[in-house]
Amino acid sequence: MSKRVRVRFAPSPTGYLHVGAARTALYNWLFARHHQGTFILRIEDTDQVRSTEESVGGILDSLRWLGLDWDEGPEVGGDLGPYFQMQRLHFYRAAAERLLGEKKAYFCYCTPEELKERRQTAQAKGETPGYDRRCRYLSPWERAALEAESRKPALRFAMPLEGETVVHDLVRGDVHFANQQLDDLIIMRADGLPTYNFAVVVDDILMQITHVIRADEHLANTPRQIQIYEALRHTPPQFAHVSIILGLDRTKLSKRHGATSVTDYRDAGYLPEAMVNFLALLGWAYDDKTELFTREELIEHFSLEKVNPAPSVFSDEKLDWMNGVYIRQLEPDDLAERLLPFLKKAGLEADMETVRRLVPLIQERMKVLSDGVGLVDFFFKEEIAYDPELLIGKKMTAPESHAALKVTRERLEELPLFDEESLEKALRRLADDLSLTAGQLFGIIRMAVTGKKVAPPLFGTLAVLGRKRVLRRIDLALEHLARLARSE
Ligand code: GLU
Repeated sequence: MSKRVRVRFAPSPTGYLHVGAARTALYNWLFARHHQGTFILRIEDTDQVRSTEESVGGILDSLRWLGLDWDEGPEVGGDLGPYFQMQRLHFYRAAAERLLGEKKAYFCYCTPEELKERRQTAQAKGETPGYDRRCRYLSPWERAALEAESRKPALRFAMPLEGETVVHDLVRGDVHFANQQLDDLIIMRADGLPTYNFAVVVDDILMQITHVIRADEHLANTPRQIQIYEALRHTPPQFAHVSIILGLDRTKLSKRHGATSVTDYRDAGYLPEAMVNFLALLGWAYDDKTELFTREELIEHFSLEKVNPAPSVFSDEKLDWMNGVYIRQLEPDDLAERLLPFLKKAGLEADMETVRRLVPLIQERMKVLSDGVGLVDFFFKEEIAYDPELLIGKKMTAPESHAALKVTRERLEELPLFDEESLEKALRRLADDLSLTAGQLFGIIRMAVTGKKVAPPLFGTLAVLGRKRVLRRIDLALEHLARLARSE
């Protein structure tokens, strides 16, 4: 690559960061890091009605959470800022004046109502409803007359009427557009604000962007933008349009399919490492088998040539699998640290010390961090609630279960060491002594101390709970069983 790579992610702050947009950001970031280039974040906030500061904050947080750090942009600055379009209006106005001066743009006095009416008439006649270019050919006195009506004009781009524009796309190859199909789009609106297609070109020029990697919904805009580059006498950057993401039913991924915002995934307990790996594979592959990539490996291997032009399918199942893999790979202390906030948010008075001891018991069983809540809540609750009937062992009666639990209590009380190993030995022996299967006896104990049918491994659980709490819970269970035995 001859020029130093400069790419940008340019979100419009009109909502949360969608996973599809996050993938676009990731590809830009990977491309920049692979080429030791610059990753720029630019906020396209010219839609004054829909842009909010809250959305900007959410987008920045989401990018930071994913670890997609930007070299230039909000909060970090840079030489070619500002990085909010609303602070760059003077640039758009200057470029617009230049085009106007060179007659590559013209004032359009048509009001929105007139345009709408004409569109409807055209549609009714089965004609294409684009702008009819009437203001492009106004005579000086027609123009004067319209100005006298004190109409506020918009500025339109004078598109070439013949020939074609070819987008040399790095993902999809050459895409041809007949210039006839390109309308004289508005570049500056009557209120003095630029439109997307114009602002994006002016900014990409001034920010010296070398590659535009973005969603393919913008492919149709690209020939228009290329014409604007040419009018401004600049070579366009290289383009790469990334395919859309579909849900499992092969329709465009939307809220109907479940969570679509990056923060939703964060809050559900997905790890950013897993999310980055997963998003990278939505439309890019290194080979036809490798699925797990560290961030460094992604940087090393990422290339636009291997981005697939076909749509990719978002599979929650695959993401869950991958997240489970990443959770299992974490250092236990790291997992404990990430887990603690989830437990606290669920209202559990969890402490780091206990969570650290719990992690080895549950690390293998989690797909997302929030799974941890249901797995360990009983450690942090004074009282656990369950249906006493569930205390009755498999193929056993209430009196039999009561008797078994009573002996268990005695053995546990006497046990010299209350650690995992001693507990396992003692309880296995006890099951034998009572001629019960391990499943029968452990089932009763598990329900008594955890209140759950499925819980972390029993002996470790007992050890972490500690003798005092275990005996207290068994006492309560014995009361339940005694009551059941009486009523039988
Ligand atoms: N603001 C545009 C968007 O969010 C940016 C598109 C582009 O990258 O050119 O879709």
